[in-house]
Amino acid sequence: MAKEGSDKWDERLYQKVDRYGLVSNLEQCLQCGKCTGNCPVAAITPSYNPRAIINDILAGSIERLLDSEEIWRCMWCANCYRVCPVDINYPFLIMQLRYMVLEKGYGLKYVLPINKFAFRAMEEGLTFVPGQKGKEKIMRLRSGVEATPWPEVSDKAKTEMAEIFAQTGARRWMENLEQLEEKPVRMSYREGRIIHEGS
Ligand code: SF4
Ligand code: SF4
Repeated sequence: MAKEGSDKWDERLYQKVDRYGLVSNLEQCLQCGKCTGNCPVAAITPSYNPRAIINDILAGSIERLLDSEEIWRCMWCANCYRVCPVDINYPFLIMQLRYMVLEKGYGLKYVLPINKFAFRAMEEGLTFVPGQKGKEKIMRLRSGVEATPWPEVSDKAKTEMAEIFAQTGARRWMENLEQLEEKPVRMSYREGRIIHEGS
C-alpha cells in the first residue's frame, strides 16, 4: 500500500490517474489476470502485464509507472475490457495514465509525432493533406469509383473544428506538450522485476 512521504508512492495515484472518472470501479479488480491472458500485446511481449499495471495504480506505486515503457505498449484493442468479469475499462485507464505521465514530460516521443496531425485537423479539418502530385493521384482514384473528386473542407467546418479544439482545451493541451522537456522512458518489467534501462 502507499507509503506517505515517499516520492516512490502516491496514495492518491488512482484518483489522479482516473481524473475524468472513467474507471470508477477499478478497486473491484479481482487480479484474476484474464485481461493479461487475453491481451495480444502480452502474448508476444512477456514484460507487458495490464493486471500488474492496475495493481501498481491501486498500490500507488508512482515510481513503477512514471517512466515506464510498458504503459505505451497497449494498442487499445479493448480485448481486456471484453473479457473482464467486473467490466473494468482498462483502455480508458491507460489513456488517462498516459495523459498524466505526458504532462510530466514522459513518453513525449510517442505522442509528439502524432501531434502534428492533430494540429492539421484543427487547422485544415483533415489530418492528412497531400502535396499536389499526391492530390492528383487521389483525385484520379476517387473519380474511378465515382466519388467526389476531392473532399474539400468548408470554411465553416474548419471554424467549427478550431472551436472544438479551443473549447475542449485540446489546443492548449497540445501546445503545452510541445513546450515540455522530454524525460527518458526507460523502465520495463522483466521477469517480475523492474529494469531501468541504462542505469
Ligand atoms: S480481467 Fe478485470 S478483474 Fe481480472 S485482473 Fe484484469 S482488470 Fe482485474
Ligand atoms: S486494450 Fe491494450 S491491454 Fe487491453 S487487450 Fe488490447 S492491447 Fe491489451
